[in-house]
Order: sequence, then structure tokens, then C-alpha cells
Amino acid sequence: TAINAYRALERQGWVRTRVGSGTYVERHATDNGGRREADEFKGAAPLMPWMELFAARPQSPLSTILRDLVAAPLAEDNIALAAGMADPNTFPIATMQRLFAEQAGETAPSDFGHIPTEGYGPLRHAIATGLAVKGIDVTGEQVMTFAGSQNGLYLLARVMLEPGDYVIVEAPTFIGAVQVFQGAGARLLSLPVSEGLDLALLEDYLIRYRPKFFYINPTFHNPTGRVLSERLRRDLLEVAARYRLVIVEDDAYSELFYHQPPPPPLKAADGYGGVVYLNTFSKLLFPGLRVGYLAASPTLINRLALEKQYIDLHTSNISQWLLHGYLKSGELPGHANRVRALYKKRRDALAQALRQYCGNDLSFSIPDGGFYLWCRIEGPLTARDLLHEAIKGGVSFVPGDAFYRTPEMGGQQFRLCFTTHPEPLLAEAARRIGDTLRRMTKT
Ligand code: PMP
Repeated sequence: TAINAYRALERQGWVRTRVGSGTYVERHATDNGGRREADEFKGAAPLMPWMELFAARPQSPLSTILRDLVAAPLAEDNIALAAGMADPNTFPIATMQRLFAEQAGETAPSDFGHIPTEGYGPLRHAIATGLAVKGIDVTGEQVMTFAGSQNGLYLLARVMLEPGDYVIVEAPTFIGAVQVFQGAGARLLSLPVSEGLDLALLEDYLIRYRPKFFYINPTFHNPTGRVLSERLRRDLLEVAARYRLVIVEDDAYSELFYHQPPPPPLKAADGYGGVVYLNTFSKLLFPGLRVGYLAASPTLINRLALEKQYIDLHTSNISQWLLHGYLKSGELPGHANRVRALYKKRRDALAQALRQYCGNDLSFSIPDGGFYLWCRIEGPLTARDLLHEAIKGGVSFVPGDAFYRTPEMGGQQFRLCFTTHPEPLLAEAARRIGDTLRRMTKT
């Protein structure tokens, strides 16, 4: 189709698509556009032809979706429900300031020099202690820290994947993971997300394609909010152990439960040593901390550390040291309770406002935790078209196709993040979505 042709041109760097605006030919240094730019830059050497110099590594076809979303011109009073962000007003800045002042004087200067690539030792041990509460039995040596779990995902792909390797992902799934896997040249096999888990399809994939791993977000899944039941967790582990399938369990949202705590992570029942457990402090505390971690076999950690040395030697020790102080201070449980209560109210407020303003034009279910409402437009209108108009009306969100490995899927679905804004803004956002929907479906 013409859309695929445009996407192919975009992957090769010839054109650039801007959501809500159109597709534009990239200006190369050697064409007229480039010369015009060079002329304006009087006396400078001709512009470098950067587009021609990039390494011919695989690129994810999804790589432009989020960039375009950020680049789309937003109204001044836009209410952004797109990014998966904790509310900045909940960030425990005052405590961090106090801890920094108190701890700095007592800390050995060497702690501010280079530290082991695997992470700041006291933090790794504190994380291992915290994991024991979830039923995960690991030592500090089996924990490695990263600059956010995105950094961990990238390194995992780097040490495990070769171009052409197969990886199983859920459909839909976290965009950042799909991009990393496709960027490593992997071929992705989709397992549809639903109440259940299609273990027959999983086994079929295992037999036919021998995938390197299965990336799964079992608890308060991004973007759907789904929680895998205890029985399905057991069944999945049974199949995985039988086939020696590596499971990469991304557990970013499990602390954010609004009713009962969720079932224990897969890693807690990992009897065959094949589960790689990944988590982050970005959702519970704040993303600027850039501390995520992984719990896995020391052999894998050793290999990841060798690779991480090439990128950044180690994750910032100031972040890790501060986080360690915060964990020691005992303030985390109180903070977690406060954000749970706040986000639960926001989830309910957004759901109620959507029902009021969108009626039967929109369907969604209420997640028991996490950050997102996953919505479906009841009718032929696509979420991308809705977004196009909604942005003009002052509200933005992520269209569903972004969460699938090929952008042809998820046309009527979209994701709303309910944690960032207070209730009146969420209600206003729902009103704007409802107005746009009504205008577009009635014409
Ligand atoms: N995994 C999932 C499922 C996520 O939703 C996110 C953030 N959107 C991440 C990983 C990455 O988080 P970070 O790199 O900030 O730790």
C-alpha cells in the first residue's frame, strides 16, 4: 500500500512524517534545500551529509511514532495523557534533599568515584532484600542496576540477540521494548493479550521458531492493565521450563495496585533459572532518577556488565546512593500508599468522566493497578484520526497502533495515562475527547 511505501522511505531516511501535518522529503546537504541552508550559514563549510554516514543497522519501524507525537504542535492548554508519567507533585523531592544533605558528609569520598559496573553494592543488597518480600530469593550479587530499565532492556538485547533471531512479545506491548528488539534485528512473534494466555500458540512458536526469549509484562500490563492470573503464571512457567524458554519479566507497575496486591512475580516461582526479572523506580518514585534493575543468573549479569562497560562504565552512583538512602529511611511504604490512593481516585475520575462524555462511543475496562486506561472506539473511526483532531481540541494520547509490532494493528484502540494530572484536568480531558468523538462520528 502507499502507506507501506511511505514507511519504507521513512526507514531509509528519505522522508519524515509529522503527525497531523504530512510527509516531507528530508533535506539532504546535497539537494537544493541543503544548499539553501548552507547559504544561510555564511562562510561555513558545506553541510555534512549525515544521512549518508549512519551505520546500516536495523531500525525499528516504530521509531518515529513517539518522536512525532512529541513533535506535533500542541495547544497551549493541552492536557497530555500520552506519556506514562507519575505525577511530578508526588516526587519526594524534600526527602531527597534532606537525605542528600545528611548523607553527603558521612559518605566515603570513594563512593563518588567509579563503582562496579554491576551497581552500587549497598543498593543491590537493599533491592535483594526488597525482592524477598515478593518471594524472589536472590542475593545482591544476582541484582544489577541500570540507567532505567530501558538501559537494561537495551543491554539484554545487545548480549542476547543477533539479527534474524526470534523474540516473542505480547500484542500489544511496551513500545520501548519492541523498538529495542527490532533495533537489534530481531523478528517478533506476537502473543495476543487477553484475559487468558494462548499457551498452544506459545508452544507452536517455541517448536517452529526457537525464540531467544519471551518478553512479558504480566502485572498491570502496559498498555492494557491486564494481570496474568496465578494459574496462568504457573502454566506459563511449566511450558517455559519444559522448553528452556527464557522469560524476560518486566514488572514496572506491580507496586501500583489499587485493590489487592497482585500475584507474586513469575521470578518468585522460577525453578529452572530462566526468568530474567526487570524492574524500575521510575513509576513508583520518579523517572529522572534513572535507576532500574534486573535480577537474574550471575552468568547473565557478568555478561551484561562486560557490555555495559562499553556504554557508561556504571549507572550514576549519585542516583544509586541517594536511592539507597531513601530505601533505608523507611519512607517508601508510606509514599507507595499515598500514590496508590491518589492514582486510584484519578483512575475512577477519568473512567467516570469518559462514561459521561463519550457514552457508548468508547469502551474500556477498569484496571486494578498501573497507569493506564486502554480504550476502544466503537465504530470505524481510527484512534490516529481521533488524535489528529483531539490535539487541536487540547488533549493528547497514544494511538493503539504504536503498541503493536506492526503499525497496521490496534487501529481503534488508544491509551490514556491517568496518573499525571489531578481529577478536574482528567474530567476536562474526557470532555474534550467526547466532543471530538461526537463531532467526528456525526459528520
Ligand atoms: N517497562 C515498561 C513496561 C514501561 O512502561 C517503562 C516506562 N514507560 C519502562 C519499562 C522503562 O522505564 P525506565 O527506563 O524509566 O525504567
